[in-house]
Amino acid sequence: MGETAQHPAAALPDDDCAGAILTIDLDAVKSNYAYLNAQTADAVRCAAVVKADAYGLGAARVVPALYDAGCRFFYVACLDEALAFPGFFDTFPNDITVAVFDGLLPFSAFDAPGWILPVINTPDGLYKQAEKAGRLGRALPAILHVDTGMNRLGVSMRELDDILSDGVPDGVRIVQVMSHLACAEEQGRDMNERQLGRMRDVAARFPDARACFANSSGIFLGSEYHFDMVRPGCSLYGINPVPARDNPMRQPVTLEARVLQIRDAEQGETVGYGATHGFDAPAKLATLSLGYADGYLRCLSDRGRAFVGEQAVPVVGRVSMDLISVDITGISGTNLKVGDMVEILGAHQTADDIADDADTIGYEVLTSLGQRYRRRYTG
Ligand SMILES: *Cc1c(COP(=O)(O)O)cnc(C)c1O
Repeated sequence: MGETAQHPAAALPDDDCAGAILTIDLDAVKSNYAYLNAQTADAVRCAAVVKADAYGLGAARVVPALYDAGCRFFYVACLDEALAFPGFFDTFPNDITVAVFDGLLPFSAFDAPGWILPVINTPDGLYKQAEKAGRLGRALPAILHVDTGMNRLGVSMRELDDILSDGVPDGVRIVQVMSHLACAEEQGRDMNERQLGRMRDVAARFPDARACFANSSGIFLGSEYHFDMVRPGCSLYGINPVPARDNPMRQPVTLEARVLQIRDAEQGETVGYGATHGFDAPAKLATLSLGYADGYLRCLSDRGRAFVGEQAVPVVGRVSMDLISVDITGISGTNLKVGDMVEILGAHQTADDIADDADTIGYEVLTSLGQRYRRRYTG
């Protein structure tokens, strides 16, 4: 009575039972870091933005890979992302700095470890940081984010004047001034130069602080945008930093979905929810093991594509939570069968390509990558 059934310890399921497989090539991430670092002068440091779980690729593996590639300065969006860092290493290196963009730290009583650097986005944040320093009885370093035109986060140029006329409060050491470009991926926009002018002014007013301005695309606007440190994110993960030119970045992400079933649709039949896609002629369909719950955006219904070898096959009907259907009528010579893998992201179709089909940006495609893929890391 009351005995619990004893189940044998489950063996790790084999990869051939995994529905969709996400493979991240860490060598490609490292080589992208080296490529970006090589775009700037030796004196300019290259940081890495690893917010949102390294844009969906998995910060736990990407951060140590970037550290191996020489990166020592990381940016995340919120405190919890920074606090995860020690868990990424067997022995946490003592030369890492992690900056937190969101600006909340000065408002919290949390005495952050020395490797976490808060970003201050408001005058109030600056004075709160000073109070905190007073309470803790030691000077606290911080990054001051100045808004140069984005109007999103950061103290305004006017607020900066006020801050400087009163003087930066004792106890706060501004070790970095940063700002963010609104239109960096569009090389001809006046906005870039306007922001650059303001950033020069900011940097000149903090001669002892390091100045950091350029995101991925900003690096390619020219060396005057580099200042003391650059902070690429998306390009590390394969997104094209200059959409008007060929993508120089390597593609670290491969996503394959498994063929779960192959079916014949008769003329006059439909496929999927809402019966939105009909067939005027007999068709052959493959049902694949991924859906919107995996970050395969539902707006790719009747718009996305998958690749069987070299051949593109269209998504037909609506994207379901766990499944999509592709029309394989037109492909030849592949003998596609149940259990085979079909490419969703990879050599034939990048996150930027999917983003074009989905009317969004590659960033959203990558950061939507779901949690239930079998993940493999190589390199
Ligand atoms: C996300 C982010 C970056 C990185 O931008 P990418 O376009 O991904 O290179 C840099 N700076 C700030 C403030 C950001 O929010």
